Amino acid sequence: MLKIILFAILIYIAYILFFGKKREKKEDKNRPQEEELMVECAVCKTFVAISEAIKKDGQYFCSQNCMKAEDDNHRT
Ligand SMILES: [Zn+2]
Repeated sequence: MLKIILFAILIYIAYILFFGKKREKKEDKNRPQEEELMVECAVCKTFVAISEAIKKDGQYFCSQNCMKAEDDNHRT
């Protein structure tokens, strides 16, 4: 009976290790991509995530304010 319990515990530990490693790999794949996708704001030179940046005329802006500032520069 004790052997069966020990065997069950070993399977349980192996199961956790196997799925724990799988999760870590998935997170590692996602993290570098998010870090690489950084763009420089054309106005204030702040680096922002591409998902948060505003793209206009091939330039990236960190906020609506910077986009408007760039527009004003072109007008004057
Ligand atoms: Zn900016």
